[in-house]
Amino acid sequence: MEDTNEECGMVGVVSKKGLSVTPLLYNALVALQHRGQDAAGFAVLTPDGKIEERKGLGLVRDVFREDDLGIEGTIGIGHTRYPTTGKCEMCDVQPTLYAGIAVAHNGHLANYVALKKRFAKMGRNYMSTVDTEPIAMLLDEKRTEGAESAVRYLMKTLDGAYSDAAIFESKLLVFRDPHAIRPLVWGENEDFVMFASETVALDINDIPYRGMLGGGEMALLDGESVIRKNIMPKEPHHCMFEYVYFSRPDSIINNLSVYDARKRLGAELAREHPVKADVVVPVPDTSRQAAASFAEAFKLPVEEGLIKNRYIGRTFIMPNQQARSAAVRLKLNPVKEVLEGKRVVLIDDSIVRGTTLRGIVSLVRAAGAKEVHLRITCPPIKAPCFYGVDMSTYSELIANEKSVSEIKTYLGANSLGYLSIEGLKKTLGVPLCTGCLNEDYPTEMGRQLAKERKWPSECG
Ligand code: 5GP
Ligand code: MG
Repeated sequence: MEDTNEECGMVGVVSKKGLSVTPLLYNALVALQHRGQDAAGFAVLTPDGKIEERKGLGLVRDVFREDDLGIEGTIGIGHTRYPTTGKCEMCDVQPTLYAGIAVAHNGHLANYVALKKRFAKMGRNYMSTVDTEPIAMLLDEKRTEGAESAVRYLMKTLDGAYSDAAIFESKLLVFRDPHAIRPLVWGENEDFVMFASETVALDINDIPYRGMLGGGEMALLDGESVIRKNIMPKEPHHCMFEYVYFSRPDSIINNLSVYDARKRLGAELAREHPVKADVVVPVPDTSRQAAASFAEAFKLPVEEGLIKNRYIGRTFIMPNQQARSAAVRLKLNPVKEVLEGKRVVLIDDSIVRGTTLRGIVSLVRAAGAKEVHLRITCPPIKAPCFYGVDMSTYSELIANEKSVSEIKTYLGANSLGYLSIEGLKKTLGVPLCTGCLNEDYPTEMGRQLAKERKWPSECG
């Protein structure tokens, strides 16, 4: 598979009073850091009508210097890039600038490779390995017909997930894929209108949240006017993994609080998989809210039995299994006082490859736990994601190969309970994309890629 960018953080902002948006972009990127730690960047439209950008590899706080925030711009976009195991070079750092159009993209195009061939036939080759580039190329193809027609063309041509912001013909252009797979919220105060992946980007800038941009919808703004238009809305399929893992709990996405969603997932998990135990321990950080409600259901104490080193990066991105297993030890330390002699319920948000959790179970046992019961707020992940979550093959997914009981044995747990798909759907109550759980992919190309990955020989 070609290594394109994955789930990221994105922001776009316009000033209604000619104020500089650069400091707001910086704040927003800090708030969206969890969505990508590989690289960060922003682009602004300067008062003399030029696009100025600053970007680099690393964390937001390391990429920008103080004088970068002094760059004047009344329209701007920004991006944090998700860490991938592949190379990340400067040419892949967003916003991507192409023919005077700057684009910041969150999501993944299922037809990225097909588009590459199409452009190659026209004599245009990709300069980067990110799917922002074909998006900018398509916008450029129709630029003389105006934003609306360019976005219509784009939505007809693209297959996949995209919640994007662009500086297009001196305006802020924002659009979201027809199925609204990745989040896209917006807010407004007296001075600014802002669009972003999550509401935390609005909060940090004191911009009240107003709602979401719908699937297949676009918005076009300059300082004076806002045009919003439904271009190609289809049935919504919001990524369930945003609620389970990806988004910050203090965000509201698709009009649903992530914090509340996680609490309710924990309560539902307790209903589906009761357990006799002494203590409930969250695997930090994502499962804290679920652990609290799970514990409440059985009147059990919830304790911090695993302490996370806050200075260590994410283990998920390590290139191989051994590196990942070793990294668990760097990242988490068990608290003997909480675990020794106890029947412990560990709550985790998801099991992808199983490496991390296996390491954790063995740490918890080594700290003296008598029993270890695993409860997972996400149903078994059995199939790849083609819309931006970093799991692209069948073989890397433990639940694709093994049954729940085999996984329990592999992880070394006394019991294992996953939330059911029905439980997840009922609890979240918004229309979901569950492609990675049951291969119910919302787009044509997603379905096709799944087939190709599953039976590579038949599909050639
Ligand atoms: P596993 O036990 O499958 O090796 O890893 C699962 C853990 O990785 C879960 O605790 C979950 O919080 C985390 N995780 C799941 N998906 C992602 C992802 O896309 N990126 C990162 N960094 N971590 C993830
Ligand atoms: Mg985790």
